[in-house]
Amino acid sequence: MSAAEKVAAQFRELYGTAPDGVWAAPGRVNLIGEYTDFNDGFVMPLALPHTAVAAVARRTDGRLRIHSAEADTASGQGIVQLDAAGLRPGADTGWAAYPAGVVWALREAGHPVAGADIHLSSTVPTGAGLSSSAALEVVTALALDELYGLGLPAPELAVLAQRAENAFVGVPCGVMDQMASACCTEGHVLHLDTRDLTQRQVPFDLPAHGLRLLVVDTRVKHALGDGAYAERRAGCEAGARALGVRTLREVRYEVLPEALERLDDPTVRAYVRHVVSDNHRVERTMALLDAGDVRAVGPVLSEGHASLRDDLRVSCPELDLVVSAAVAAGALGARMTGGGFGGSAVVLTEADAADAVAAAVEAAFAAEGHPAPRIFPAVPSAGARRVL
Ligand code: ADP
Ligand code: MG
Repeated sequence: MSAAEKVAAQFRELYGTAPDGVWAAPGRVNLIGEYTDFNDGFVMPLALPHTAVAAVARRTDGRLRIHSAEADTASGQGIVQLDAAGLRPGADTGWAAYPAGVVWALREAGHPVAGADIHLSSTVPTGAGLSSSAALEVVTALALDELYGLGLPAPELAVLAQRAENAFVGVPCGVMDQMASACCTEGHVLHLDTRDLTQRQVPFDLPAHGLRLLVVDTRVKHALGDGAYAERRAGCEAGARALGVRTLREVRYEVLPEALERLDDPTVRAYVRHVVSDNHRVERTMALLDAGDVRAVGPVLSEGHASLRDDLRVSCPELDLVVSAAVAAGALGARMTGGGFGGSAVVLTEADAADAVAAAVEAAFAAEGHPAPRIFPAVPSAGARRVL
């Protein structure tokens, strides 16, 4: 039985009828371009093989029933029952706020979504910086788009999913996660300009180059991360104001030294240096991939990590340990990925050294007394799609 058939069978068991269809949307890992998406900048994520799968049936009576296989086992929570017309941002709906927020965002945008029965099951690790939340949102958006015949293009669904997370759930994230989940394609990284959502699918065939990209989930999450994101965001906005630009995207890398001289606040100066240089690292990475010089991406990743650690200060000892242990064991480069303060890192390595690199990271974690990290290869996979 395929994963889609399994989720459809669970739906039948739960609701007593067959779903109208089954959809899947992946988690993502970001190769390079961090804390750039809320500055109108560049990012370069790839979709993971891990997906949120949703079996959904349309309802026309205004009711919304939502269930998750994982939330059920974790908390004993059953079906969450809501009224589509009564959805209000900030309502205490727990995890169900992610799919419910999408219904709210679609309705707010004027789309006639009158209700649904939804059963979800996800293989995306939660809270690991791999966007399990965006996967839930995007799979819900795609299913409802199709069941209600809305015909919205994938980037528009991603923006509505982001709105759900920003306004309904209350997380001030940029648009990268939802765009990655909605728009990535197998075998590619997505070069995304978050200012106008211009996309380019960049071939990323690591096996052809004898390389591997590892995801290392540190399995830690530091409480510090909660307020830090908003603080970094405010600091970047202050930097843009001081430089007289709408967003830091407009500061060209070539004039960065002059721009930095005009900033008095050392914290703001460091944030600006990170954002402008990380945008440039995305462009360098794309040029290297286009030139087939994939190995040379490694040092760019490590440079990006140093910038996140020293200038933006969003790393943590466990993420720094992944990077130092991996590079010491011969990896080509590594960086934290996602919001930081825990979560995951990516490591670029020769394929035939991947096992030794992974073992070195595990040994370093054991030596420091950290719980064992979860390590798996990042295989660039398909974005959101119908699967049954
Ligand atoms: P990330 O997106 O990096 O995994 P977030 O904190 O943004 O981390 O989102 C994680 C949250 O998403 C979980 O705490 C939970 O509320 C929700 N979530 C993700 N996957 C599931 C699932 N399969 N079932 C129920 N809730 C889920
Ligand atoms: Mg998330």
